[in-house]
Amino acid sequence: MKIAIVGAGPSGLFLAKLLRRQSERFEIDVFEQNAADATYGFGIGLLGSSLKFLKAADEALYEDVLKISSKGDTMMVAHKGEQVVIGVDESVGIERIRLLNLLQDHCRPLGINMTFEHRIENIDTFKEDYDLVVGADGVNSVVRNAYSDKFQSKVTPQKNKFAWYATEKVFDHMSLIFEQTEYGMMIAHAYAYRQDRGGFVVECDPETWDRAGFPDMSNGETREFCEEIFSDYLDGHPLMSGELTWFTPNIVRTPNWHFENVVLIGDALRTVHPSIGSGTRVGMRDADILSRAFEEHRDDLDAVLATYKKNRLAGSDFFQKAAVQSIAWYESIDSKLHFDPVTFAFSYMSRTGAIDYERLRKTDMDFVRAFEAAPSPISIQG
Ligand SMILES: Cc1cc2nc3c(=O)[nH]c(=O)nc-3n(C[C@H](O)[C@H](O)[C@H](O)COP(=O)(O)OP(=O)(O)OC[C@H]3O[C@@H](n4cnc5c(N)ncnc54)[C@H](O)[C@@H]3O)c2cc1C
Repeated sequence: MKIAIVGAGPSGLFLAKLLRRQSERFEIDVFEQNAADATYGFGIGLLGSSLKFLKAADEALYEDVLKISSKGDTMMVAHKGEQVVIGVDESVGIERIRLLNLLQDHCRPLGINMTFEHRIENIDTFKEDYDLVVGADGVNSVVRNAYSDKFQSKVTPQKNKFAWYATEKVFDHMSLIFEQTEYGMMIAHAYAYRQDRGGFVVECDPETWDRAGFPDMSNGETREFCEEIFSDYLDGHPLMSGELTWFTPNIVRTPNWHFENVVLIGDALRTVHPSIGSGTRVGMRDADILSRAFEEHRDDLDAVLATYKKNRLAGSDFFQKAAVQSIAWYESIDSKLHFDPVTFAFSYMSRTGAIDYERLRKTDMDFVRAFEAAPSPISIQG
C-alpha cells in the first residue's frame, strides 16, 4: 500500500514509523516543506498521561524521549507576587527540534522515504498516485484546505495574543506567572525543555496588548518589554525569539475526518490550545490509533478510516473541550484576580476539569490542605 504523508511534524513522523514497523507492505513517502533540522518554536511540554500512552505505543521511542528530556513533577503558579508550588504527575519538557530529529532517526532505518524542503501544493495528483494521502501538515493544512468542501472544517480565531520565546533561565517548575501591569494582566507560561533552556510563552488579551503599545513595537522592542515585565522571574536572562513574535491561535474543528483515500491527523484535523500544551500528544495519539486501525482491518481502507474516527473521537473531543474551558478561564481572569494566591492556583489547576480535587489529593495533599484553609475558598469545581 502506497501512503503519502504531507508534513513531517510529530504526528506525520510517528504515523510513518508505526505503520512501517507494523508491516513492510506500507511504502511510505513523507514530504516536509522545511529542512530536516528546521522548525518553529522551541520546546514543548508533555504531561504525565502522554508519557504513559507513548510507552504503550512505542517503548523504544519513549526511552529515547526520556533521554533527551528535562523532567519535573511540580508546577508553580505566581499571583500577586507570591509563588505557589504544587505537586503534579511527572511531565517532561523537550526541545521540539530534538523530538523531530529523534523521530526522523527512528524512521530512517525502517526504509521510510523522507523528502525535506519540498512543499506540497497540489494534492489531486497525490490522490491519484497513492492509495492513501495523510494530511499531517499542521494548523494551516494544505490538504484540509484543498478539500474544504469535504472536511467542512471551522477555523475560529481566539482572542488572546501569544508570543513564543526561549530563555537560558532554567525553571525549577512548570511555571505560570500572572503579572498585573499598568496595562492589564500579562501571563507567562514557562518550563524547562533542556538542562540549559526554558520555553517562555507570553500571553495577554488584545486590550492589554493595545494599551502596552505592542502594535507599534518592533520584535526587539517587544522582547525587551516582556523581559522588563517578567524581570523578577528571569533573573537577568534575556528572552530569545524565533521568527514568530505575536500570534493569535486558531481553534480548528473538523466534522469529517476523511473521505475516499484522504485523511487528516494532528493539528491539520483539529487544534487544542497552547494554554493546555497537549497538541503534540494529541497528534501522536491520532497516529497511534490510525495505525492500530490498520492492524485491525489491514487494507480495507474504508473500515480503517471509519475505525480511526470511531476510536479516536471521544479522546479528541475531550481535549478540545478542555481547550475551550482553559480559554474561557483565561478570558475571564478578571473575575478571579481578587483570589488569594492559593485559591487562584487551585482555580487555575482545576480549570479544564482534567485535574480535579481527587487527583490533587493524590499528587499534593499539602496544597489541598492549604486551599481548604485559604481565606476565600471557592467551590471545588473552581
Ligand atoms: C506557542 C505554542 C506552544 C505550544 N506548546 C505545546 C506544548 O507545550 N506541548 C504540546 O504538546 N504541544 C504544544 N504546542 C502545540 C504543538 O506544537 C502542535 O500541536 C503539534 O506540533 C502538532 O503536531 P503536527 O505534527 O500535527 O503538526 P506540526 O507540528 O505543525 O507539523 C506539521 C508539519 O507539516 C509541514 N507542512 C505544512 N504544510 C506543508 C506542505 N504544504 N507541504 C509540506 N510540508 C508541510 C510543516 O512545516 C510542519 O513541519 C504548542 C503550540 C504553540 C503554537
